[in-house]
Amino acid sequence: MKTLLAVLKKFNPTENPTSGEIRMMCPHRERHTEEDGLFSCFLNAEKNTYHCFSCKWGGSALQLLTTKLGVSFSDAVELVQVGQIKEEFEPYESYQVEEDLPSYLPEFLMELNRPPKEFLERGFTKETLKHFKVSYSQVPSRKTGKMRDTITIPCIQNRKLVGVKFRFQSGEKRAFWYSEGFVRENFVYNEPEKSKKILLVEGESDVWRSHQNRIEWCGSTLGTEMSPQQAKRLKRYEKVYLAYDNDEPGTRAAESAYHNLKLQNELLFVPYTAEDPGECGGREWRYAVNHATDYYEYTTAMSEYMGDDYLRIKEEEEKNFLKKAKLKR
Ligand SMILES: [Zn+2]
Repeated sequence: MKTLLAVLKKFNPTENPTSGEIRMMCPHRERHTEEDGLFSCFLNAEKNTYHCFSCKWGGSALQLLTTKLGVSFSDAVELVQVGQIKEEFEPYESYQVEEDLPSYLPEFLMELNRPPKEFLERGFTKETLKHFKVSYSQVPSRKTGKMRDTITIPCIQNRKLVGVKFRFQSGEKRAFWYSEGFVRENFVYNEPEKSKKILLVEGESDVWRSHQNRIEWCGSTLGTEMSPQQAKRLKRYEKVYLAYDNDEPGTRAAESAYHNLKLQNELLFVPYTAEDPGECGGREWRYAVNHATDYYEYTTAMSEYMGDDYLRIKEEEEKNFLKKAKLKR
């Protein structure tokens, strides 16, 4: 295990045993002319902040660890939260796509110990939210520039933070947006690293629910529209389980995913009766996943259940796919 002190070693850190605050040399030497004042930097892991009282520079501890010390975002969060990381990472298969995502620097302060109320009220546990590193951050409003509590959902790929999904809610008003430079089309949320199968759902909160319901190999395209780049990323999985929402957009998404993936993956369809996977209880969810069916069985069940509406959707989505395939050629 590597501790926070070990990671900060080159700054000669000392820890205050009572407050847990770390005093060290300022990591921004270029801002200091003389030797004096170099040990005026204080890092507070619990608050995710650091500040140099001599040159007045500071910011988020996560940012310092990821930009100055080469710590991966996931490990930096562990370090700030519990003060230590495993010395050696478990190896994972890395793979290439045409465009790699730029890595994103967290400039904001993440309040890692404050799980968003909105999600606690929806029945997500603190452990689940912590696992997905969902927190509040102080982010300036895009309209007024005023700092305010904003829900922060890190988008991590190959252990690198490649973007952030922000959610803001005030009364009835809800909004979400992504950090600058983030390309959703190149990204699959929570891709299982070692599993040969992936369970696909529409949104990140469906992923959290599945995880809480003990099916952890669950990821999301963050929306119903699967991009060609996302389809390509999914190529390495032997089996793709589809569990989009039980509504018209979700049904369309499942048809479209079928056409996009049928030549490269074995596809299985997860039958469940709730509105979306986020509404499923643990027992129902695990039962549904264990009873996933092939496309033939799925279409038979859907035409019985939805009738002509389903057949219309199925036909339209097939046409859409063929049209797009023609355009590409
Ligand atoms: Zn300084």
